Amino acid sequence: MTHAEPRPGLRDVEPYDSPQLDVPVRLNTNECPYPLPEGFRSDLAEAVRSADLNRYPDTNATRLREELASSAGHPVDGTWVANGSNEIIRELALAYGGPERAAVIFPPTYALHQRLWTLAFGSVKSFRLEPPFLLVEHDVKNAAELEPSVVFVCTPNNPTGNAQPLERIEQLAEETGALVIVDEAYVEFGGTTALGLIASHPNVVVVRTFSKAFALAGARIGYAFADPEVVEDLRRVRLPYHVSSLAQAAGITALKHRSEAEAILDDIRRQRDRIVKELEAMPDVDAHPSDANFVLFWPVKPAPDVWQQLLDRGVLVRDLTKIVPGSLRVSAGTESEVDAFLGALHEVLS
Ligand code: PMP
Repeated sequence: MTHAEPRPGLRDVEPYDSPQLDVPVRLNTNECPYPLPEGFRSDLAEAVRSADLNRYPDTNATRLREELASSAGHPVDGTWVANGSNEIIRELALAYGGPERAAVIFPPTYALHQRLWTLAFGSVKSFRLEPPFLLVEHDVKNAAELEPSVVFVCTPNNPTGNAQPLERIEQLAEETGALVIVDEAYVEFGGTTALGLIASHPNVVVVRTFSKAFALAGARIGYAFADPEVVEDLRRVRLPYHVSSLAQAAGITALKHRSEAEAILDDIRRQRDRIVKELEAMPDVDAHPSDANFVLFWPVKPAPDVWQQLLDRGVLVRDLTKIVPGSLRVSAGTESEVDAFLGALHEVLS
């Protein structure tokens, strides 16, 4: 028997999984905790019923891109969609990465940036941020000295939750000359968008998703706003027909029901702020302020033990000890899910 060898180094990479356990309260993946509103659900069913699935989808997802462009006030030829923002980041890595191409990353941050960049054969230089995890001018200087091809900024940042100052993003664009990929997966929950920078800084790309605020994680739709030249580059690396007709229909329908999605955001922000407030009031926990739909916190007890004991009580959070020592991350769920989380945490820590 002959086993074929994959590319060098591939087997050092662990598959990226976020295991879902079947528990009553799932607060580990920053999804929207509410199901789709009824009107949205039935419009979506109708859109699926009338989709011409015997035909390939519109390979340029024209209608969805037009709707996104007009809702953001951005040109349609600078608007792009793919299967989740992860795929957009992978396409950016394919288009702007490669051997001899370096990306600057500011950990602790979303692990997929580094992973997708290195899978596209690029190298990574990390400048680690410490609490309060805010970019400062020195970070911009460090990044610029490296003359990178790409700089990744996540704002609000996963897993720390805080947004980054727009001024620093602008400086990164001006002083590094790199493509600055601004991951705004959580921007609907807080922070300031970098969208307005693109017109004057065509090396800024804003990447967003329907997975969080639009409650469509299962549909896999991500989008980006950029200079049209960057979108042309993405068209060069994307697969033909990469976004299915079903996903395109889901995105178009979601935009029609935008106001319902926005109404839910207030509830989620309220629960997030409640989590921060209650955790700060607990003597055995530190919590980081959040602009996103999740909260990073540090229990005094070992975090993996607290994670397990929360799970024993039916509450699943994310153990982030490998990324931010001693920390756990909890997503802002419904009021009753947050009740369950806070109650279980009180028990575990008392
Ligand atoms: N960016 C960040 C910062 C995220 O946290 C996530 C999801 N965990 C994504 C991108 C990917 O989202 P999706 O592919 O579902 O759009």
